[in-house]
Amino acid sequence: MATQETVDHKYVYDFAEGNKDLKDLLGGKGANLAEMTNLGLPVPPGFTITTEACQAYLATGREPDGLAGQIEAHLESLERGMGRRLGDPHDPLLVSVRSGAKFSMPGMMETVLNVGLNDRSVVGLAAQAGGNERFAWDSYRRLIQMFGKTVCEVPGEEFEHALDEAKRARGTTNDLDLDADDLRGLVDAYKKIFLKHTGRDFPQEPREQLDLAIRAVFESWNAERAVLYRRQERIPADLGTAVNVVAMVFGNLGPDSGTGVAFTRDPASGAQGIYGDYLANAQGEDVVAGIRNTVPLQELERLDKRSYDELLAIMARLEGHYRDLCDIEFTIERGKLWMLQTRIGKRTAAAAFVIAGQLVDEGLIDLDEALHRVNGAQLAQLMFPRFQLDHDFEPVAKGVGASPGAASGKVVFTSARAVELAAEGEAVILVRRETNPDDLNGMIAAQGILTSRGGKTSHAAVVARGMGKTCVSGADEIDVNVPAKRFSVAGQTVNEGDVVSIDGTTGKVYLGEVPVMPSEVVRYFEGTLDPDEADDALVKAVHRIMTHADAARRLAVRANADTGEDAARARRFGAQGIGLCRTEHMFLGDRRELVERLILARTDTERSDVLAALLPLQRDDFVEIFREMDGLPVTVRLIDPPLHEFLPPLEQLAVDVAVAQERGEDVAKEEALLAAVRRMHEENPMLGLRGVRLGLVIPGLFAMQVRAIAEAAVRVTREGGSACPEIMVPLVGAVQELETVRAEAEKIIAEVVGDSGVEVLIGTMIEVPRAALTAGQIAEAAQFFSFGTNDLTQMGWGFSRDDVEGAFFWRYLELGIFGISPFESIDRDGVGRLVRIAAEEGRAARPELKLGVCGEHGGDPESVHFFHSVGLDYVSCSPFRVPVARLEAGRAAVETVGSDSR
Ligand code: PEP
Ligand code: MG
Repeated sequence: MATQETVDHKYVYDFAEGNKDLKDLLGGKGANLAEMTNLGLPVPPGFTITTEACQAYLATGREPDGLAGQIEAHLESLERGMGRRLGDPHDPLLVSVRSGAKFSMPGMMETVLNVGLNDRSVVGLAAQAGGNERFAWDSYRRLIQMFGKTVCEVPGEEFEHALDEAKRARGTTNDLDLDADDLRGLVDAYKKIFLKHTGRDFPQEPREQLDLAIRAVFESWNAERAVLYRRQERIPADLGTAVNVVAMVFGNLGPDSGTGVAFTRDPASGAQGIYGDYLANAQGEDVVAGIRNTVPLQELERLDKRSYDELLAIMARLEGHYRDLCDIEFTIERGKLWMLQTRIGKRTAAAAFVIAGQLVDEGLIDLDEALHRVNGAQLAQLMFPRFQLDHDFEPVAKGVGASPGAASGKVVFTSARAVELAAEGEAVILVRRETNPDDLNGMIAAQGILTSRGGKTSHAAVVARGMGKTCVSGADEIDVNVPAKRFSVAGQTVNEGDVVSIDGTTGKVYLGEVPVMPSEVVRYFEGTLDPDEADDALVKAVHRIMTHADAARRLAVRANADTGEDAARARRFGAQGIGLCRTEHMFLGDRRELVERLILARTDTERSDVLAALLPLQRDDFVEIFREMDGLPVTVRLIDPPLHEFLPPLEQLAVDVAVAQERGEDVAKEEALLAAVRRMHEENPMLGLRGVRLGLVIPGLFAMQVRAIAEAAVRVTREGGSACPEIMVPLVGAVQELETVRAEAEKIIAEVVGDSGVEVLIGTMIEVPRAALTAGQIAEAAQFFSFGTNDLTQMGWGFSRDDVEGAFFWRYLELGIFGISPFESIDRDGVGRLVRIAAEEGRAARPELKLGVCGEHGGDPESVHFFHSVGLDYVSCSPFRVPVARLEAGRAAVETVGSDSR
C-alpha cells in the first residue's frame, strides 16, 4: 500500500505555481511557461507534470500513486478556467501534451496535439470555430496521426500515404485544397490504419487519450535517439522529462490566425533587432515541416499591427526579465496573441560575445556575468580559420579532430617535399601514416597535417596543437602509401600534388579546395588589430571580456613553447611565462649525428667531447627563449624521450646494413649503430629508459643541459635582461631520483651563476602515479611541481597515449564509460584525485611550493576549472590555447555568479 507521503507528493504544478528556476522539476519549457504566466503574459492555461513523476514511472513502469488524482484535479481547474470541458460534444476543450526536459533536446521527444477530439467533439469544435468544419476535421485527423505514431507506434508513412491518396483523389498537391468532406474521409482512413496496427479502435475517451499521451512522453525519454543525443551532449540519463498539458490555441483558423518563431536579437551575429518567421493560417508543426514558406516576422506588422506591437512589447519585456537573448514561439488565434514557449536562445560563438557585451552596455548584466555567459570553446571556435561550407562538399573520411582549424593544400608525403613546395609558395598538407620528430620541418612548412593513425595525443596532434596548425589524425579510412606518393580513400586515389582540405575541428577530410576564412580574433590577439579602432563588434566584445577575465582570474597562464618564435607568439597571446620547454627537439636535425655519437661513445672522453659540442648549441637555444621571455619564468624540462627515438628504425637499419654487406661495402659504423639500436630496443619504451632515468644512466647528459641553461641565463642577465629559469626533471617517481639529479645540478648552477644575481629553481614533473602518492617526500627536494597529466593519464589508466584513442575509445564513449577522452579533459575522479593528493601533500610539506600543470589538459576549458579548484598557481598550454585558458581561468574565478549556461 502506498504511504501517506507518496500519496501527498506533489507531481503536478499549475503554471501559476511554478517559475523559471524550477527547471529541474518542471523542465525548461514548463518552468518558462510558468514564469511567463506569472509575468502576466498571455499564455494558454495549463499545468506541468514533474520530472519526478517521469523518473518514478521509468523506474517502476507505472504512474506513481497520487498522480492520476492530481491530474484530474488540475484538469478540472483548467476546464473551469476555460469554461470548456474535455470531450464536450458542444464546446470541447482540447489540450496539447508536450515533453520538456531540463536541458533542451530539440525534436528528441514526443508531442501530441488536439487531445480531446473524438467522433462527437469534432462537431462541437466545428461550431466553436464558427462553423469551420474543415478546420475541425483537419484537427481530428492530425490527432489520430500524431497519436497513432507517437503513442501507438503506427508507422507514420501509412498516414502520409493516405494523405497523399486523398490529395491525389482531389487532384492537388496542397493540403489546403482538401475540404471538410475529404478530411472526414481521411479520418475514416486513418482510423482503419490505427485499427490495423493496434488491434483496437482509436480511443474515444478523452481522458484515456490524455493518459496514454502522457505515458508516451515519459517513455520517449528513453527512445534511442534521445539516449544518443544525451550521450553526445553529456546530459545525465536520469533526469527524466516533464510533461506540459496546455489548452490548445489555433493558428489555423483563417487569415487572421497564424504562428511564428522569433529571437530577440540575431542569434547568428548578435545584432540588435527582431529576427523571426511567421506563417499565417498555420500551426507550429506546419512551420517545422516546411510545407509552406514562412515570411519574415516584420511582415506581421502589415498583417496584424496590434498583435505585432504586442509581440514586440512582450519580447522587450522578456529580454529585460531574462537579461538575455530569448527565443519564443507564439500563435495568433483570430487576432489574439498567445505565447507558447520562451527560453534563453542558442547562439553562435560570435553572437555569444557580442550579446554579452551589449547586455553590459544596457545595464542588464555586469562584467562577471558577461564572462560567465561565454566560454573557451566558443573563443577557440572564433580563433580558427573556418571553411565556408556553403557549397556541396562531402567529406571522404573522418578522423580525430586533433588540432582545430581549416586548411587546404596540395598533398605531400614527406617532410622534404613539404619544405620544397612551401618554399615555392604552395600551400601543402602533409599526409603521413603517423608523424615522428623527423617530420618537424615538414609540419612547420605545411598548412595542415593529416595522419591515418593516432589520437589526440599522438605526436602529430600534440606538435600541431603546439604550433596552432590544423591537424586531423587517425583518419583510418585513408590508406597511405608513402613510397608510391599516394593515398586511397573511399575507392579514390589521391596523388602527390592533388588538393585536399582538412577540418581539424570536426576531423573531416574533403577532396579539393574548400574556401577558408581567416580569424579576426587572432589578429586582435596577435596585436595587428586594435580593438579600439576595429569596427568589428566581435573584436571589441572579445577585448572587453578578456580584459575582465584577466583581472578576475587567480590562475596564471603560461605556454608550452620550445623555440624563441613560439615563445614570442605565446607572449603576444598573453602567456605569463613558459610552463614547459621540451628540450628534445633541440637534439634533432643536424644535431642528430651528435646524439648518435653520444649513444655510441665507448669512453668517458668520447662522451664528454660530444657533450662539449652540444653545450654551446643548447645554450644558444636557451638564450633565444630567455630573451623572448624577458622577466618571465621559463620552465625548461631536461631531456625526456628514450634515446633510441633519435636513432634510425631497427628494420630499416638492418636492411641497409645487410644490403651494404652484400655489396661488400665498409659498414663498421652502421654495424655499431645497429648493435646499439638492438641493445636499446624496448618493448614498452614509454615505461622504459626515459626521463630522469636517462639522466641517471648517461653520465653528463643532464649536467650539460643544466650548464647550458645556467650559462644562457647569466648571459641574458649580463646583457641587461632578466632570465628566470626553472629546471624541471621529468618522470620522477621517487624522491631519491630527484635528490641525485638536484645535488649535481646545484653544484653546476652555483659554479656558473656566481654573483650574477641569476636565481635558478629546481623542481619536478609529477607524471608518474607514485610521484603523486609520495608528493610529501618529493616536495622536500622540489621547489615546484608541474603536473604532466598526459603521462599521469597514461599511467593512471594504463592507456598507451599513442594507441588507444584511435583503437577503442569509440567503444568506451559509446558505452558511456567516459563522456570524453581522459587525454582531452582531466578525469577528475581518478587522475584528478592524484593531482589533488599531490597538491595537498606537496604544499603541506613545503608551503611555498609552486604548482602548475603542463599536460595537454592545461588548455582544456573543463580542466582549467578543475585546476583552479585544486588551487594550482598556473596552467601551461600550447600558445594558441593561451587566450582560452585565460578566459576559462577568469570564468572559474567568477563561477559562482550567474545561471546555467547550457
Ligand atoms: C605530460 O606527460 O603531461 C607532459 C607534459 O610531458 P610529455 O607530454 O612531454 O610526456
Ligand atoms: Mg610526460
